[in-house]
This record gives sequence, structure tokens and C-alpha cells, in this order.
Amino acid sequence: MSGILVPQVPLEKDESVVSFAIRIARKHVDLDVQEFLHDLQLPLQDLLFGKRSAMSTLSVVTGIDCETLVVHQPERLQARQFRFRGHEFSSSFLGGTRTAYCPHCLLEDDGQGDGQRVARWPWLFKAVRTCEVHGCALQFAAKTAWSDQMRNLQTLAPDARGLHRLVDQSDLRPPSPLQTYVLRRLRGKHTSAPWLNSQDIEQAFRASEMVGVLAGWGAKQKLGGFNDQDWEDAGRLGFAVTGEGETGIRALFFDVLRSVELRHGKAGSHTIFGFFYEWLQFDKTGRDPGPIRTILREFILENMAVSPGTDLLGEEVVKTRRHHAHSLAVKFNLHPKTVHRAFVSRGLISSEDPDRMTGMDTCEADVAEELAGELQRAVPVAKLPARMNATRPQVDMLLREGFLKPLDSGHRILTQVLRGVDAREVDCLLARLTNRAAHVSRATAGQVPIPQAAQEAKRYSGDIVRALIAGELHNVEIIDGTEGYLALLLDPSEVLSVMPRDTSHLPLTKRAAAEQLGVSLTALDLLLGLKGNTPLIEWVEDRLPGPIKVRIRQAEVNSFRQRYVTLGELIQRDETNHWVVVGKLRAAGIDPVQDPKEIGVYLYDRLRAIPVPS
Ligand SMILES: [Zn+2]
Repeated sequence: MSGILVPQVPLEKDESVVSFAIRIARKHVDLDVQEFLHDLQLPLQDLLFGKRSAMSTLSVVTGIDCETLVVHQPERLQARQFRFRGHEFSSSFLGGTRTAYCPHCLLEDDGQGDGQRVARWPWLFKAVRTCEVHGCALQFAAKTAWSDQMRNLQTLAPDARGLHRLVDQSDLRPPSPLQTYVLRRLRGKHTSAPWLNSQDIEQAFRASEMVGVLAGWGAKQKLGGFNDQDWEDAGRLGFAVTGEGETGIRALFFDVLRSVELRHGKAGSHTIFGFFYEWLQFDKTGRDPGPIRTILREFILENMAVSPGTDLLGEEVVKTRRHHAHSLAVKFNLHPKTVHRAFVSRGLISSEDPDRMTGMDTCEADVAEELAGELQRAVPVAKLPARMNATRPQVDMLLREGFLKPLDSGHRILTQVLRGVDAREVDCLLARLTNRAAHVSRATAGQVPIPQAAQEAKRYSGDIVRALIAGELHNVEIIDGTEGYLALLLDPSEVLSVMPRDTSHLPLTKRAAAEQLGVSLTALDLLLGLKGNTPLIEWVEDRLPGPIKVRIRQAEVNSFRQRYVTLGELIQRDETNHWVVVGKLRAAGIDPVQDPKEIGVYLYDRLRAIPVPS
């Protein structure tokens, strides 16, 4: 056979070349396509595989430009690998052995032109499940005979009655956006999904479907039982996510992560991402799934704890980027609960419950490992006095004043460890306190440790420590061979001069009050009720450091003096002596307000006693 067949059979829009060849055979020579190809010496496989040579032969006999034919039939490049319109993909991107068709389209074919049915190339693709023209779900004819691979719809699809029945049964639906996307890309039209456009068409399609399954069914879904409708739904769901690109995908991954509530914190990425992880980690087809794998890998590294050396989605993990309480505890031999509480206390994770670990709460690995070091070095408060050579009250003061910070800087009462202090911080404070001290073999007379200097100079230990750190004290000594907080020896007189204090606003001391009242200190103690008796004068507690604990307000002294008068004052006024005055008072019927033996002083009601001796 040679020359161009006349009359020419037009290649229909979207018609596959195999379908075209079937129609030419019938139209011109009323032959079965196999006989027709035999006459052309064109092997059927070459046509089915869209080989260039086959396209070229058909071009010669039909007069249709070879390149036109090429864009109507996918070309097999090698086993399971195809090319079509500039896109390369695996056989999985095609619809497999069954034959898809739209009954509407076929009925229209039946009723027009030469009445031959046209197989459209879009129907060859798995992504295409809905007729673009009629908006109905495509029908599928299974391959039952060897010749069915030619997808001859004259024989494979039902007759007109059967097609009408299918039309009546079929649901109408718009093509899925994923199908539209795939076809637009195959047709070389603009597609506005940058992330999908950045990968090859099969990757874009597969990623969209798998993301759709994850979004609609969750990570535990098994894909084995999925039917056409499920994949159709998955494609719609998935494209809504992948069309948005990385942001949408990461948001979905976060949803998956949040939906996993595990108590023990050992959940790996495989458990959490289930089938999706298996697809990207264990796929044996050797096909590169594209950028979706990188996105999941980065997401896992950024949000979950993965140990170095793990093979994660095709690449070994070099560095742990995130830790959860459990991973940190294992690495540093700490208790997971302690670590979790430390995370909560430091605000490193979003959880605020110190007792409940989800294992999904992770924080930056560097920060976490620094914290682990602190936990390992923690000195419990009870052991700080020995460690620092300090008294417990001094340690308490250092903690209270913030010179030492417990690991738990929050307000919770947590574990012993968290209430402890990082040994490094302890050493650092001691170094700051002692670095200016003179090391001596014998202390200068009068040099005393901080607590004693505080007593003698009547200053807060905390203020002295502040002055020491600020370098304001110079007479500081440490005897060779001693160390720690109490080894520091200060000069109380220097403390006094460096830290002057105005005490004039303070209430009276006992000595000053006794003087004003004209009573002995012993009597004053009795008047103040300090010996367990009923007080006649109120006192206030002196909270300042030093031996003075009792002070008396001036107003209290004044009001006492307005109410009472001592025998001493009466004698002075009378310019006589004890016996004379007491005698006069007795004669006037005035007795001391209280037994002098009880209060150590003869005390009378001023208003009654003053007039008497005159
Ligand atoms: Zn149709």
C-alpha cells in the first residue's frame, strides 16, 4: 500500500492515534486494524506504544503531519516509561489495562459522521475520571482478551441501548480540579499552581492524591480498598491543599501531628504519618515522589525529635533539630518527667501541664540540650550549703535575692532537681565574690565572715553581697586553704562606711525609750511584756539585721508618759525622797497601778499622783 488514502479520514479532536488507525482501517479497506497494519508492515505494538516509526508510517498514508499524530498518542520510551507532549511519566500515570469511555460521547459518535466511535487520548490517563464535555463519570471496560489493548470502543463498549442505560445511571459531576490541572498541563495551557508546576506532572498528580487521602481519611488509612470514587474524592481534597503549595501542605501536616495524642512521647514519624510516610519512605518503584518528600522530611525534622543516623525519607539525619522530653531524657540519662516539667517551666513548649506529656511537644534541640546540661549539673538546694560552704539561711538569702537562680524560674513547686541550681551558676557566683579577695596566711584582726559582718555592721547580708560583687569592698580576705562563701572575711567597719544608713526615721531603741521613760532596761522589758507578763507598752519588731529586735514608737512612749508617772519623777518634783513621796501618796489613797514587784517600777496614774506631793 502506498500513497495517501483518499478520501481522507479526519483525525478527531483529542483522538488517540490507535483509535484513528482503527477508523481508517474500517473506512477505507473495511479491514480489521490488525490486517490493515499488516498491509502497512507496521507492527501493532509499535502503534500501541506510539513509536515514532509508526507515527511516520501513518503520516505517510494519511497525509497528516507526523508531529500532529505524535501529540495524540503517548509514546513508550522503555519498560513502564512513557512520554507525551513533553512530559515523561511512568505507566502508573496511565489508566492501566482497562478502557475508559464516556457513554454520552460514544452515543454522539454513533449518530454522526461515519458512525464510528472515537477513543479520546485524555481517557488514557488515570487522572481523568470525568468527561470534560458531558460532566459524567467515565465508564470502564475491563480487558478480557489480548486484542482489548487496542481499546476498540466499537467492540469494547456496549451497543447504543447499553450506552443509553449507562447514561441514565450515570451521576453528573464537574471534572475534578486535579483532572483539569493535569489536562491543562498536558495541553500546554497555563496552570496557576506554582508548587505543582515546579515538579513533573506525575509527581504533581500523585502528591495531590496522596495528600487528599491524608486530608480526608487520616494517616491510618490503608490504600488497598480504595475504589474509583475514593480516588476521585481524594484528588479533589488533595488538589485544594497542594494547589496552595507548601503552606497548605504544612498546615495539613500540623493537623495530622496535633490529632495524634500519645501519652508516652515515643511516637515516631512512621506512626504519625502512617501510609503517607510509607509511601515516601518505602516506595519500591524507584520513582522520585518529588518535592513532597522534602516538605515532609523538613516538617518532621522541624517538629519532631529524630535521632542522628536515622534514615529519614531517603536521607540520613545528621543533626537532631528538635527534642521532646523523652528523646532528651534518653540522650542525657534524665527522667522524662523532670525534663517535661523543665520544658513547661521554661515555657519551651506550648503545654502548660507539668504532669502530662504528649510526646508531641518539642522544642529546639540546641536549647533543649543546654537545659539538659543544667539539669545534669543541678545541685539540690539542700546540698547547696555544703557545696558552697555557706549556712542554710545564707543560701536562702542568696536564692531569695536572686544571686542564685533555681532551674525552675516559674512559681510551681516541681521536682527536687528543678528547685536546684546549676552547679556552673554556683561556681560563677563564688568566683565573682572571691575574685578580688586577698589570699592571706592569717586573717587581719577583726575580719569576719559575711553573716557576722552583717550583724556587726547592722546591714543586710544581701546588700553586702551586692557591694562585694560591685567591687565596693576592698578589705576582703581569704585564708589560704579555705574556700567558699564563709571563707570570705570582711571588715565590718568598712561595711559600715561603704554602706551608710540613716536610722533616724526608725522607732526608738529600748535604751532610748528607757531613758525617756526614766526606767531601767529590766523594768522596760517587763513593761513591754517581754517576760511573759501583760504589756503596758506596745513595741514593734525591728526587721533590720543586727541584734536590735525591739523598737518602740515615740508616740507610744508619749502616750505612756501622759497616762503614768514613775516614782522617780515624783521624787524629783517633790525634791524629797522615796519614803516621803510614797507616804504622801499612801495618805492620799493612791497606790501604784501595778505591783512594783511585777513590773520592776513604781508606776502611778499621772493625773491622780502629780497633784499630791505639792
Ligand atoms: Zn462525554
